[in-house]
Amino acid sequence: MEKNTMTDPEIVIRDAYLADRDSTQDIAIRGDRIRTIADTIGDEGVTEIDADGNIVAPGFVDSHIHMDQAFSAEGERYPKFNDQGGDRDEITTRALKYYDNTTWDEVEDRAVRLGKLAASKGSLYMRTHVNIMEEIGLDSLEAMLSARDRLEDIINVEIILLTTNGVLNDGEAEDLVNEGLRLGGDVVGGTDPASMNNDVEQTIDTWLDIAAKHDAEVDAHIHDPSTLGMYVMNRLAEKTIEHGYEGNVTASHAYGLAGVSGKTKGDLSEPGFRDGDLKVFKGGDLEEVIPTFKESGLKFVSCHPGSRPGMPIPQFQNEGIPMAWGSDNIQDFVNRHTKPSALQGSLVNAFKLDYNLYSFATNQGLEYLWNMVTEDGAKVFDIEDEYGIEEGNPANLVVLDALSPQWAIINQADREYVIKDGDVIVEDNEIVPEKDPLAT
Ligand SMILES: [Zn+2]
Repeated sequence: MEKNTMTDPEIVIRDAYLADRDSTQDIAIRGDRIRTIADTIGDEGVTEIDADGNIVAPGFVDSHIHMDQAFSAEGERYPKFNDQGGDRDEITTRALKYYDNTTWDEVEDRAVRLGKLAASKGSLYMRTHVNIMEEIGLDSLEAMLSARDRLEDIINVEIILLTTNGVLNDGEAEDLVNEGLRLGGDVVGGTDPASMNNDVEQTIDTWLDIAAKHDAEVDAHIHDPSTLGMYVMNRLAEKTIEHGYEGNVTASHAYGLAGVSGKTKGDLSEPGFRDGDLKVFKGGDLEEVIPTFKESGLKFVSCHPGSRPGMPIPQFQNEGIPMAWGSDNIQDFVNRHTKPSALQGSLVNAFKLDYNLYSFATNQGLEYLWNMVTEDGAKVFDIEDEYGIEEGNPANLVVLDALSPQWAIINQADREYVIKDGDVIVEDNEIVPEKDPLAT
């Protein structure tokens, strides 16, 4: 048995199951890095953690969330804003009503509470969309920038400037996004080039032009279903290539993918393949769009509250096209009352994405879902080079009370420990007091 020693490890995790190696290892951490992974580490850590053969996972990635809306349904016996569903106009009305009746300090505190909850559930990376509208200017962004500062010890937050009402519709939107990126926002967001902005070409060009000016990525909500959604995503991919912006654009939700014909060279018994769909336009088959998506480096996010059977999760993962997960709406006015939990999202998806006799609750299916909350999330976050449990990588990991990814999802495993940048931030599903951003 290989035996390894290192000088003065601060934390040693013993008997940790690492899924990508399919073996149990000891992990030594010093400073903010994983220093050594070996069968046995001889040195004692200042802190010793016995994983007891359970899985130690890299910190989960929540690739799509709305921190500036979080918990807005709270405060009454029944969830607020929740008596009916709502179209986009209705949701915008609710957003303004919410912001009008609360303070930005309260919005910030709720965002901090959300970040704390996410970290306690093992998410160490979170990408949040922030509403940018003429009526509120950059107030929401400023609250989220403060929230991010308060959360920096427990979760990495990336901020997307969401032009909620369409970058072409709102007279100030483009200026606000430029200013927001200067203030510390990270990513150019947006909504539906077709159904929201009514100009596919100009909308996508505007996003990409703003992004290029600031060397920022683009992450757009593409809600349009079916052929319209596919058309928009095709143009997004093609324009990404035209602008030389490959690898820097994400399509969130991407519902159109769930409606596209899965007829490819593959076997219809494979997950995600549907038989009998009509090919309705050029580019409407996966086999036609996959090469363009690959060339453009387009990344995708599917959030479990809105995820749909038929999303080509297995095909994309097998082709190396990232398909990540997000928790989206945390008990807010959009009526999707999720928790910011990768394990909850994966379990919901395991049942919900089932179709055509294929179950995502199989070992293989659960592995696809696990990849969405880990490695593919890291690609959306653009941190794949230093993500994962490897020597030299940042020590960002979760010690779970489960033997494998599959059992972690099935049993909604306890987060025994969460470690961020070499510090223990969670013990027994709770943020440790000294790292609590809400402690007074
Ligand atoms: Zn969203």
